[in-house]
This record gives sequence, structure tokens and C-alpha cells, in this order.
Amino acid sequence: MTTLVQAALGLRRGTRAFLGTACAALLSLLTLLGVFRVSSPGVEHMTLAATWALVLIGRVAARVREERRRGGAFFDLEIGLLLLSGAHALLQFGGGLMGPFYPALYVLVAFMSSMASRAVGPLLVASAVGYEAALYFGTEGHGQAGPFLLHAVFLMLFGLLNVIFTQAEISRVRLQNRQELRDEQQRVREDARLFRLVATPSESSVADAERLTRSSVEEVHQALFFNLDMIKRSMGLHTSLLLLADDSGTQLSIAECASDSERLGDGPFRADSGVVGAAFQRGLTMNLETLRPGYGGICYYREPAEVRSFLALPIREGDRVRGVLCADRITERPFSPADEELLAAAVAHLLRTMQNERVFLQLERSKREHSVLHRASAALGAALDEQAVLEAALTAAAEIAPFDFAAVTRYDEQKRTHHVRCAVGEHAERFGQLEFSDNTSLTAMTVKNRHYLPYRGEFDPSSQVVYTPQANLAGMNSLLILPLMVRDHATGTLALAARRRDAFGPRVRPALSVLANQLAVSLANAASVRQLEQLATTDGLTGCYNKRYFNEEMKSRIHAAERFGRELALIITDIDHFKSVNDTYGHATGDVVIGELGAILQRLARETDVVARFGGEEFCILCEETGAEGAVQLAERIRQELEATRFETELGQLKVTCSLGVATYPKHGAHRQQLFEAADAALYAAKHAGRNCVRSS
Ligand code: GH3
Ligand code: MG
Ligand code: MG
Repeated sequence: MTTLVQAALGLRRGTRAFLGTACAALLSLLTLLGVFRVSSPGVEHMTLAATWALVLIGRVAARVREERRRGGAFFDLEIGLLLLSGAHALLQFGGGLMGPFYPALYVLVAFMSSMASRAVGPLLVASAVGYEAALYFGTEGHGQAGPFLLHAVFLMLFGLLNVIFTQAEISRVRLQNRQELRDEQQRVREDARLFRLVATPSESSVADAERLTRSSVEEVHQALFFNLDMIKRSMGLHTSLLLLADDSGTQLSIAECASDSERLGDGPFRADSGVVGAAFQRGLTMNLETLRPGYGGICYYREPAEVRSFLALPIREGDRVRGVLCADRITERPFSPADEELLAAAVAHLLRTMQNERVFLQLERSKREHSVLHRASAALGAALDEQAVLEAALTAAAEIAPFDFAAVTRYDEQKRTHHVRCAVGEHAERFGQLEFSDNTSLTAMTVKNRHYLPYRGEFDPSSQVVYTPQANLAGMNSLLILPLMVRDHATGTLALAARRRDAFGPRVRPALSVLANQLAVSLANAASVRQLEQLATTDGLTGCYNKRYFNEEMKSRIHAAERFGRELALIITDIDHFKSVNDTYGHATGDVVIGELGAILQRLARETDVVARFGGEEFCILCEETGAEGAVQLAERIRQELEATRFETELGQLKVTCSLGVATYPKHGAHRQQLFEAADAALYAAKHAGRNCVRSS
């Protein structure tokens, strides 16, 4: 049932949709038949006109309601055709194509082509031309093509120009809207930052910090101007102006001013000249009245001023005079004690504004530093080996203060030497493995004094040495070397250098110091982890791997050999008659012999071989990609080397020999156990054959 209703509704909507087209077609047909070529309209004309008007209103209403079912373009075409047919009917009534109302058609075509969608516009212009042709040559029966062509050209021209202009205008408005939207977004972002509604993003960079400073400066300016302007208006001043001193205290610059004068100088002004200089230098309030015209003692006027009274109040911060607040009038009204009091209150307010903003800025900066340090601390905590620790620390250092060169050194207290363990940035390769003894370099001094150097962060390569006179950092203007402190010991240094000046000033130094401390602890931890690993895998007497490590390693190497179809050789050595060595020369001598055999094995084996003390005076050697022949050769060399070794003991010289058994994978054993048994059997065979020899399975 519902489907039937839906179908009926759909049909009705479909019929309605074609009503406009049908009406336009009917009216066009009647026009082409010349029905409207009458001098006075009859009832039938009126009925047609009313029907047309009703359909047009209906279609326009539907268009406005945006019945998107058939798309806007279809509506445009329908309405355009309706208008065209109506206009032609009217034209015919008013004297035809050559009649006085014809130019109105140009207006209609222009209107339709600019209002219709992009695809429909040209279609309607073409329809107008076609309509005209049918009427001109058919209904009206003209012979000459000239006037028609002229009309057609004009119709097309009007249509085309309007399409172009409209599209251009649409594009322009769109672009403008987009730009306005972007500006608005930017403004809102800036405002939010300005009013501290948003926090500085955690991954903030130097650029972000600069933007923050800029917005703070702007805010201070606004607040200062607002205050000075209020003072000026309420006290009837000519100028109210705030001068601030530079770091050296020799110059005064205009921080902000509100003035009616056009003769204000740009500054900076000398801090010791005129009445302003006197207020600044002596820290005293200067109140001048009934000044003579053309008085030249006020530094901030380009030409002698016309002011009649002048007041300057020093701005104190702690025991330093930071600047001067100046006020002047061109009227005969000296500054009263009440005025002075009011301005003193204003000074306090101005100072607070500047201090508040500074605190805000510091808070934002420290928030940013905290987040960098927090991330660095997490990364350093997660890094277990030295390389990962160094990388994490240098990444964090670059975030706190970008550098052009950075290096970490280690100090060996016993040998009293410094060793560059990692260097990055410009010419880092020159410093890669640099080692130097305790000298007068800044690095050595930093370790010795356990305090960062150079004190001011400035660096002059011609007079200061970072590592050695030969390995110095040319071209850098800023330097900071921080000690790596573990408890009370300086274990090395973190050095940062940059080409720009003031790169590592007091603003970033505390955060870098914290980072250096964390780096020091993390490096010590990494060293402990390495030591623990070593302890767990090596044998204390010989420094060779232990049995546990050897077994693990053998498992994985057999796997690899199996996967890549390679050979593997296992050699087992056992010292001959070792019990009697112990019994005759003592256990200590026995240990020396075991140690020496370990050293021989490590010396003769390749780097990829695994040498382990398996227990007592037994050693194992696992050789990768080695067949029986190669392994026997190695075993023979080991045998000869031990045989040739003489041990000096209290009971005279001692000579020791060993027996060796060799087995290879996969020939003598496909598993670890099988391989061991095969090598052990070979060793047994060697012992049986009289010892001091090599046997292979
Ligand atoms: P063979 O030629 O048949 O190998 O005779 P051997 O006397 O060497 O016999 P075996 O290999 O069984 O001897 C093992 C001896 O090694 C037993 C023990 O006294 C000695 N030993 C084991 N571990 C150590 C050690 O750490 N230090 C010392 N000094 N001796 C050890
Ligand atoms: Mg043994
Ligand atoms: Mg033995």
C-alpha cells in the first residue's frame, strides 16, 4: 500500500516538474503560429497569460524551495524557457522582432545567463537564438538575414559577457570570503594566545617562543598606551611618554607615548642629557614650571618645545632606575603635588604591567621547558644503551636551544684523560674519537671546577680552547660546556656551540643544566646495565663467555646455519693432566694456565667465533661458516701455541699441553647435543691417542 502511495506521489511530482516545460513549449508553439500578433488581447490571450504567470510563479517557488530531486539546473532551464516564451509572446503583441520593445529581450537574455547555473546559461542563449530564427524566417517571413544575424550576435554577446562577468564575480567573492575566514581564524588564534586562553603547544619550537614573545610585547604596548593616553586626557597633557633605558644605562628609548605633538623625536636619546637625563641619572622627580618658549632641555622633542610645564618621574625597579615617565603641558598650568602623586601611582601601575607580562612570559617559557625536559627524561629513562641515551639527550638539547655543534666527553679519572664519545653538527667528524689528557682546555676546566664554562656563554676561538688547540671550534660565537655530574663527580661534559651570539644565555642554561644532570645519570645507568650484562655472560677468570651464554648462542647459530645452509664447527679443548699441574704447582698456577689458554683462544679465534670457558680447564669454540678442515687447522694452531708457552713458577718452568676435539654441523650432528657429543668423542679420541693432539669426528 505504502509503495503505491509513494509511486502516486512520485508521479505527481514528476508531472509537476514537466509542467513548466510543457507550458513553455505550448506558449512557444502559439507564438510561432502568430497567435499573439493582435492589436488588442482577447479573453483567450488573458487566460494564457494567467496560466503562464501561475506556472512561472509555481516553478520559481519550487526553485526557491530548492527541490533538489531533479537538480537546480533543470529548474533554471524550465524557468528560462518559460521566460523566453512569455517574452516572445509579449514581443509579438508589441510589434514583433522589429518592434520598439525588442531590446528588452537583450536584458532578459543577460539576466537569464547570469542567474542560471553554468551549464544552463549557454543553452538558454542558444534557445533564444533558435526562437528568433524560427520567428524571423518562419512566422514573420523576413527575407534578409542581416537584421537576424545582428540580433543573434547581440543575444550571444549579452549572454556570454554576463556569464563571464558573473562567474568572475562569483570567483572573486568566494576568494574574498575564504581570505576573510582565514584572517578571522588567525585573529582568533592570536587573541587566544594574547589572553592566555590556550597553552603553548607541547612541541613548541623556537618560532613558537618568538611568536609568544611578540604577542606579549604587543600586549604590553597596548596596556602602556592605554595608561599613558588616559593620563594625558585626564590631566590635560600635551605629551605623556615612557622612556626606558637600555642594558648599559647610557641610552633612553621611547617605550610608548600619547602626544598631541608632531615634533617628537624617534630616539634613542642620551641618558645623561637635559632634564630627562637628570631625572634618570639622579633618580629624582623633576618638576619644571613656567618654562620659557623654545626651552631645549627636553630630549624627546626634535625642535625646542613649546611646553610651559614639565614633570619627569624616575621609574625604579629594585634599586635600579629603569626609565622615566615624562608629562608636559603647553598651557599655563604647573604640575601640582596632587598631579605628582597621580603620576607616581601611574608609574607603579606601568611597572606592574611590565612585570606581570614578564612573569606570564616566564611562566609560558618554563611550561615549555618543563614539557621538553619531561619528554627528555622519559626518553632517557627508556634508553638502555649509551648510544640511545646520547641521542635522546642531544635531541632534547636541540629543542631547548638549537646548536650548530654538540659533543659529549667522558673523563677517565685514573688515566686523567678526556675522550669524545659522540659529536654531532658542523665538523663533528673531526672530534669523533678525540682523546686528550688533562690540559687547560675549557672541557678539562669544567670537569675540574664542576661548573659550566665559559661564564658568559660567549666564545672566542682565538683565545679559548674547547678540547685541544688543534681541535678547536672555529666560527662559533656561543658556547656552553656543562659538567656531567654523578653524585659529586664530574664524569664528563656536554658541550653545545652555535654560530649565533647569546645562544646559551641565562634563559636556557638552567634547563640545559638539568638535562646535563639527567644525561650523566642515564649514562651511568647505561654503563651499569652494560656491566651487568657482561657479568651475566662472561667468565670472571678468563673474560671468555660463560657456558650459559655459549649454549644460547649455539642454539641461535645452529638455527641460522640451518636456514642459510651453512657449516658450523665446534672445537672442545681440555688441558692434559691438569690435576697434576694443580697438585704440583698449586691452584694459583693452575688458574694462570687456564687464563693463558683463554687468552690464546681469544687471540686466535675470529671475531665472529664464540669462545667460552665451559667449566674447569675446558673451553669451547664455535666457528661460523667453517668446515672440518678449517676447524682442525685452528685447533692445531691452538695446540701449538699452548705447547710453545712457558709458565714461570716457583718450581721452575712449566710446560702445558692440551687435547682438542672437532665436530662440524651438519655432518657430525644436526642438534646442539649431537654436535657436543661428537666433539666430546673426538676429544676423548685425542686423549686416547696420547694427548697433545687434535682429532676430528
Ligand atoms: P686429562 O688429561 O685426562 O684431562 O687429565 P686431567 O687431570 O686434566 O683431568 P680433568 O680434565 O678431569 O681434570 C680437571 C681438573 O681441573 C680437576 C680440577 O682440579 C681442575 N680444575 C677445575 N676447575 C679449576 C679451576 O678453576 N682452577 C684450577 N686451578 N683448577 C681447576
Ligand atoms: Mg677436564
Ligand atoms: Mg684435563
